[in-house]
Amino acid sequence: MARRISEPAREIDIVHETDVLVVGSGPGGLPAALAAARAGAEVTLVERFGCFGGNLTVVGVEGMHWYRHEQTIESNGIAREFEEKAKEMGAAVPESQSLSHEIDSEGFKLVADRMVLDEPNIRPMLHRFFVAPLMEGDTIIGIVTESKSGREAILAKRVIDATGDADVVARAGAPVYKTPAEQMMAASVMFHLAGVDKQRFMDGIKADPQTYKDWGGGEWNIETSGKEDDMFSPFLKKPFQQAIRDGLIPPHLNTISGTWGAVHDTGELTYMNLIHLDGCDGTDPDSLTTYEIEGRRQTMLAIEALRRYTPGCENIRLRNFGMSIGIRDTRKVDCLYNMTETDVREQGRFEDSIGIFPEFIDGYGILILPTTGRYFQMPYRNLLPRKVKNLLVAGRITGGDRISHAATRNMACCAVTGQGAGIAAALSVKSNRPLDEIDPLLIQQELERQGGRHH
Ligand SMILES: Cc1cc2nc3c(=O)[nH]c(=O)nc-3n(C[C@H](O)[C@H](O)[C@H](O)COP(=O)(O)OP(=O)(O)OC[C@H]3O[C@@H](n4cnc5c(N)ncnc54)[C@H](O)[C@@H]3O)c2cc1C
Repeated sequence: MARRISEPAREIDIVHETDVLVVGSGPGGLPAALAAARAGAEVTLVERFGCFGGNLTVVGVEGMHWYRHEQTIESNGIAREFEEKAKEMGAAVPESQSLSHEIDSEGFKLVADRMVLDEPNIRPMLHRFFVAPLMEGDTIIGIVTESKSGREAILAKRVIDATGDADVVARAGAPVYKTPAEQMMAASVMFHLAGVDKQRFMDGIKADPQTYKDWGGGEWNIETSGKEDDMFSPFLKKPFQQAIRDGLIPPHLNTISGTWGAVHDTGELTYMNLIHLDGCDGTDPDSLTTYEIEGRRQTMLAIEALRRYTPGCENIRLRNFGMSIGIRDTRKVDCLYNMTETDVREQGRFEDSIGIFPEFIDGYGILILPTTGRYFQMPYRNLLPRKVKNLLVAGRITGGDRISHAATRNMACCAVTGQGAGIAAALSVKSNRPLDEIDPLLIQQELERQGGRHH
């Protein structure tokens, strides 16, 4: 049992009051704030870092729509807007394995700024870390943040937890659950490279094209539906196998392999998803410390292997790491409805749908791409935690079993739950009705007005 000490109680300033407070600005939170503002609410967007975007900008996860093929049916709405706005602002390049654009993680910081500032109803609050909920009985009435100004209170009529780790829900006392650390999806330290000879690199890729079937074997064992097997994948494994044979990389690091994102005319190779760290618990700062450092160490081994064994990479150098290690899997919220494997594999349909997502499952050893027009719906009840009133959830913390999480964690699906949560929160404030009494039909109507699809 750790030694303990009492923290003295204190009075803090209420620095702001708002209708809808969104905590976290990733693919879940940013759409939540935009949608609530567009539905007419006064919105506040609180973020611990200095930019919006969550994993997209902070970690460097650039592949938001890499699932898209000819027949894919998708949500449209704010998920699509991210890509279109990024293209318009020169922050996207064509993606190599799909009919989509890869979003530039640095450029998207500006895209997100623009989207937030274009909504006069949003008050952005960067550099504030949520630390505690303010509760009246079982109702959340605001939050406490910690920043360079110390502790401050923000009051809100409705709160949306989009922290990726369910920080608000967990501290408000609503039920959450967590995959055991040894079964969690691996964490990744992501990086970008400079100095690539694009022509030579692409010639090498074309001379020895990899497919999704090549993900199989070793660490990346996967189940597909069969139709994915012979499709091109920007996958890199051979250089690291060679490096192990030559003694450059120790054999136990056969976990180093994965995908590259985009190769730019300027010689940058971005969104390098090659380092996979099993056992990292994203809610434990000691674990995060260990794996951040270990991830950076492994990155330098991977770069040396690329230099030696990948055409076009002879003169590469590290351009940057993501600002933070990338975490895929931590707390999830026990919601009024929790998604199931059957829902995402068998086109789940719900009367209270707040959006759709194509049949795209990626994680826990499964890869299914939405090459057909199959899709599932997300129910509104999946955004409502149990026990705490005036609280909604969005993004990868929405409740569900492991396989459903492999679908709903994807950024475009996080945007679906975000947009649904934002609309519901705004409607709830405007009608002065509890969240669980909002008619899903009204959410659907507003979603349609905002360009989203729910069936
Ligand atoms: C390495 C990696 C590769 C991936 N690849 C893909 C991919 O190719 N395609 C895809 O679709 N998905 C991919 N994913 C999954 C996807 O990135 C996440 O599931 C998604 O970003 C989750 O969105 P979110 O908004 O729920 O959380 P996040 O993106 O984590 O955003 C949460 C935000 O909340 C902020 N925050 C957290 N705690 C607090 C706090 N206490 N106070 C204030 N702010 C806080 C964070 O700073 C962050 O901005 C990948 C994930 C990782 C880690």
